[in-house]
Amino acid sequence: ASKSRQLHIMFFPQFAQGHLIPTVDMARLFARHGVKVTIATTPLNAHLFANTIQRDRELGLEISTCIIKFPSAEAGLPEGCENLSSITSEEMLDKFRKAFNLFQPPIEQLIEEHRPDCLVADMTFIWATDAASKFGIPRLVFNGTNCFALSIIHSLMRHEPFRNIATDFESFDVPGLPDQIKMTRMQLPNHMREEDNERKKLLKEALKSELTSYGVIFNSFYELEPAYKEHYSKILGRKVWHIGPVSLCNKNNDDKAERGDVASIDRHECLRWLDSKKPNSVLYICFGSMFRSSAAQLNEIAKGLEASGQNFIWVVRKVNSEDKEEWLAEGFEERMEGKGLIIRGWAPQVLILDHEATGGFMTHCGWNSTIESITAGVPMVTWPLHAEQFANEKLIIDILKAGVSTGAKEWSRWADDTKFKVTKDDIQRAVTRLMVGEEAEQIRNRARELKEMARRAVEEGGSSYSDLNALLDELRLNCP
Ligand code: UDP
Repeated sequence: ASKSRQLHIMFFPQFAQGHLIPTVDMARLFARHGVKVTIATTPLNAHLFANTIQRDRELGLEISTCIIKFPSAEAGLPEGCENLSSITSEEMLDKFRKAFNLFQPPIEQLIEEHRPDCLVADMTFIWATDAASKFGIPRLVFNGTNCFALSIIHSLMRHEPFRNIATDFESFDVPGLPDQIKMTRMQLPNHMREEDNERKKLLKEALKSELTSYGVIFNSFYELEPAYKEHYSKILGRKVWHIGPVSLCNKNNDDKAERGDVASIDRHECLRWLDSKKPNSVLYICFGSMFRSSAAQLNEIAKGLEASGQNFIWVVRKVNSEDKEEWLAEGFEERMEGKGLIIRGWAPQVLILDHEATGGFMTHCGWNSTIESITAGVPMVTWPLHAEQFANEKLIIDILKAGVSTGAKEWSRWADDTKFKVTKDDIQRAVTRLMVGEEAEQIRNRARELKEMARRAVEEGGSSYSDLNALLDELRLNCP
């Protein structure tokens, strides 16, 4: 093994903004450490970060993209359906998942052509460890989440503690973790708590594929979840590297504005709006790249925001984007003129969070949003919806003490257009608790501490900096 030979890492991320965005940041981070990076993805997904990568290449970073066709016809999906954000039903999602296995041959072909030293693939690509080992290279897992949440998922799947619980709202302990973590069945997806089924089988296979991989990379940092890094590597026997927050390697405002998609608002206009507000006086509301809210729920949010009296930037993505904006209560936008900014579509999230006027983030607790908020020192109003977001909420509220919960109770991937789950009063209460008064000040101070910890982690000598270098050293040693 020679220390001087350039490493080449190939990434094959999941087809979702929440995976592509941190992958591009990681690519940049690795490339700055002299690594050659190839990102394999499909045409529409590659298009989402083509500009950013072009800029990186002009700066001399060795990042390139390899395009693989998405097997839409074979999977029974319409053309152009290549990203999880365009999936609108459980049936489509099942087909989308079926397509994952069809990527093994093209990825093997790419490995054969490009001969990378390592393959980093999402855990849902259950064949990736085999594919990599055919060419004698290690497969690492990156699945866009944190060690805490993954430890919870492994425990739930191993011990199924929810089986003997009488009702869906009764809480049970998640066994074997460093802290006492309580959950309810309502906070888990149906397929996880029910008897064996196809989706549960896939989840089990994905977890198994993670356990046979070489190790796992997290866009998180040690100080955020020290006990869980230890737990995860000891109990599950995995190698773990915390290398985040990877968004911190993004110093350029253009890149921050254009993460994953073209913003639906001019970033200068957005920043000017924020400039006109006092520090920590604006609540930012966004539920990630995939979830679409129901009209009824949007209406309830509008009422809650108005009642809270706070300034806000609200990113709206609704179930039925064709219908008229009936969810907007009569005169709401006029009344909120100057006080509230509604963004319909894609927001420059990291720029907004970084602005000093932003004092709170109402979030669905997607991991990227969570770590971006922590990185910016912005406390959160938590409203978990699906995926591992209820676990992330536990980390934010119970462990990090960096937020206030809306009290959202029920895991659901899809919104029912006529219903709402969190009331105007719940929203108003949580927003006020986070933005005003003594408790708010305490939480804000805590968020500031976390921001400082995040910054230190990626600096030379910091925990993430050291983990990244340890990973690269180890990969170099493994190189033939
Ligand atoms: N994002 C953004 N603008 C938006 C919505 C989302 O920039 O209007 C980014 C956000 O900064 C984060 C990612 O998209 O990096 C969403 O990932 P997360 O894990 O929070 O949620 P998901 O979309 O996976 O549910």
